[in-house]
Amino acid sequence: MTNDFKVVHTIAEVREAVKAWKREGLTVGLVPTMGFLHEGHQSLIEKAVAQNDRVVVSDFVNPTQFGPTEDLAAYPRDLDRDSALVQDAGANILFNPSPEEMYYPDRTTAITMSTITEELCGKSRPVHFGGVCTVVAKLFNIVTPDRAYFGQKDAQQLLVIRRMVRDLNFDIQIVGCPIIREADGLAKSSRNTYLNKDERTAAPVLHRALEAGRALAESGEKSAEAIKAKVREVLATEPLADPEYVEVVDLNTVHPVATLDQPVLVAIAVRIGKTRLIDNFFYPELH
Ligand code: AMP
Repeated sequence: MTNDFKVVHTIAEVREAVKAWKREGLTVGLVPTMGFLHEGHQSLIEKAVAQNDRVVVSDFVNPTQFGPTEDLAAYPRDLDRDSALVQDAGANILFNPSPEEMYYPDRTTAITMSTITEELCGKSRPVHFGGVCTVVAKLFNIVTPDRAYFGQKDAQQLLVIRRMVRDLNFDIQIVGCPIIREADGLAKSSRNTYLNKDERTAAPVLHRALEAGRALAESGEKSAEAIKAKVREVLATEPLADPEYVEVVDLNTVHPVATLDQPVLVAIAVRIGKTRLIDNFFYPELH
């Protein structure tokens, strides 16, 4: 690959590169990730490369978005593999800061959001979205991109980031990207590496359950309860699947709805063994 590419670890180096690009009048895309990249991330990077003159991919396992009992230490990392993927996809900088580079030990500022961060994943992960918003806002200030790319895989995150950008007047276009799946329907995720063989065989039940829910909605069913019951019924066919939530929410409030007479997000979180997986669909489709 011949694109101009480097791995950088400091904020100063990113700023210097971006300033030089902007002096030339070039546009900049940002793809925030936690690394251990797969085809889902790759699709975001390729879209960013297609739509911008230069692309920065951040690769940072952000400690502030993990709760005390979550998988921060175990989260998989492989910078060499990530760097090859990012370069092949045509991006220009892989930004891999240390936690110390990103966070002052005596920091006193953080972003908090209400309501839409309290539903779905926010219920079991109370510190998660505050950590996500704070690190994404910092990345926005460091990279100053024209566009930033987020996957529908983390649908609540996408809605939360769009809201933060609106509420805080970031001059950045948020581009949502469709979910990339394995051949058997399992949404690609860095956390899929936690699954043992039996759990991996069980995991596509999330997609099957959502597809059954979608088919019911497409057949004209308007009751959110009926859709949720259908999704739960399919999840119950898999003994290793332990649902945390099955929800139908409004796109603006992220609050549960009773009927599908506005666009909705149907979202689930399911434990397969110790691994927590999420998946979703928008109805109607956003794309
Ligand atoms: P992560 O590294 O898990 O924080 O994800 C970084 C970005 O990639 C987020 O915007 C995710 O929504 C997105 N992403 C992760 N998995 C997928 C996938 N299977 N398809 C599309 N986007 C994804």
